Amino acid sequence: MSTHTTIVIGGGAAGLMAAGRAAQKGSQVILLEKMAQTGRKIGISGKGRCNLTNSADLPDFISHFDKNGKFLRQAFQHFFTEELISFFEEQSLPLITERGGRIFPESGRALDVVRVFSNWLKVEKVQVKKSSSVSAILHENNQVTGVMCKNRQLHCDNVILATGGMSYPRTGSTGDGYRLAKELGHTIVPLRPALVPLECKHKEIRKLSGLDLRNVEARIMIDGKRKKKAFGELSFTETGISGPIILTCSTIIVDALRADMKVIISLDLKPALDDKKLDNRLIRDLSQRRGESIASILRGLLPQQLIPICLESCTIPSDIDTTLFPAKLRKRLVQWLKNFRIEISGHRSFDEAIITAGGVNLKEVDPKTMESKIVKGLFIVGELLDLQADTGGYNLQAAFSTGWLAGSSVG
Ligand SMILES: Cc1cc2nc3c(=O)[nH]c(=O)nc-3n(C[C@H](O)[C@H](O)[C@H](O)COP(=O)(O)OP(=O)(O)OC[C@H]3O[C@@H](n4cnc5c(N)ncnc54)[C@H](O)[C@@H]3O)c2cc1C
Repeated sequence: MSTHTTIVIGGGAAGLMAAGRAAQKGSQVILLEKMAQTGRKIGISGKGRCNLTNSADLPDFISHFDKNGKFLRQAFQHFFTEELISFFEEQSLPLITERGGRIFPESGRALDVVRVFSNWLKVEKVQVKKSSSVSAILHENNQVTGVMCKNRQLHCDNVILATGGMSYPRTGSTGDGYRLAKELGHTIVPLRPALVPLECKHKEIRKLSGLDLRNVEARIMIDGKRKKKAFGELSFTETGISGPIILTCSTIIVDALRADMKVIISLDLKPALDDKKLDNRLIRDLSQRRGESIASILRGLLPQQLIPICLESCTIPSDIDTTLFPAKLRKRLVQWLKNFRIEISGHRSFDEAIITAGGVNLKEVDPKTMESKIVKGLFIVGELLDLQADTGGYNLQAAFSTGWLAGSSVG
């Protein structure tokens, strides 16, 4: 094999971008992907529509990452949203921007993104070897020399490690990269599932499976202290709760649960109405719908499935005479509607987590190039790094940008 050869390990968002870019910059590139196809995770991202990035400006964009987000500044300086949009447009994949600045392929098909990369890598003459799992990275005197793949040594000058995290392992991201990086002396910040559904033990909550709530506010209480709030959609599942606002808050909740702290999610089911307005609304409904059962009156305020839980929590008998509804019970109803408390008992596993929190310690990677500070010629990109962001296209942009920067830096 000639000199200036780059091996990219992993054909996900970061690896595909890194491979094409390294080839553009004149490197001879081999991409080794352990699955039978590249881009498996891209193909299922954004519910099959692939939320590629977000139109937020740079400071806003970085604020959607945890405290480590600033590490990405240099990668974003080289290749940010505008460059990503131009890249796809040049590859004849028009994009559209939707609610919350989320950017998708106009076709609505994530697989079109995978197709764009396959075509691009062909044009750039990247050798893509599928069903090729890398078991070790070879090095001498702190310089990368090659990789072990299917019991064979492949020599190269640079390795771009892009094996992703360990969430949704069926897509191929089984966490191999953490071991490979650790064997070379890197430290791994503890791995936790993130953007992950939560579990509740209460049978009543589990019975709500399938119910979606819109326009609610969730306040996260950890050991009695309010830590975060989020507004939007929430879904009840067979084991607990999920949906955008829950996923957004899940990272701090996972950490709290792991530290044996008590987590309560307090839901404001009527955030647009303060206590006074909500009480007036109840007074109006009770007087306009005289003679109807309390369950029937509450149907104007709550989904059917929540009514028995509400009445039980407020200890209101279902056959109460609503023409003589006491003010103290109205107050209880208002309090419950503004503060429906769900105790969280756990979280789902990596199998259901959108991303992996933790990863290769950023102090050991040069943000200007993505090169390891421990082993020369090794570049580390994508979800493998200790970076995590909200849903909204931020995670894929981070993978594309770090991949692009590493591809630009090799050789
Ligand atoms: C269901 C779901 C939906 C998502 N939706 C969105 C979204 O809409 N927008 C967004 O921004 N983010 C989304 N994400 C997150 C986003 O997809 C990831 O952050 C991103 O794909 C990470 O890219 P990556 O290249 O680092 O890793 P991956 O995409 O995980 O790619 C890693 C690749 O490395 C390969 N590999 C692993 N080990 C080896 C080995 N030993 N040898 C060779 N190859 C190996 C794997 O097979 C895989 O192909 C979603 C994630 C999930 C699970």
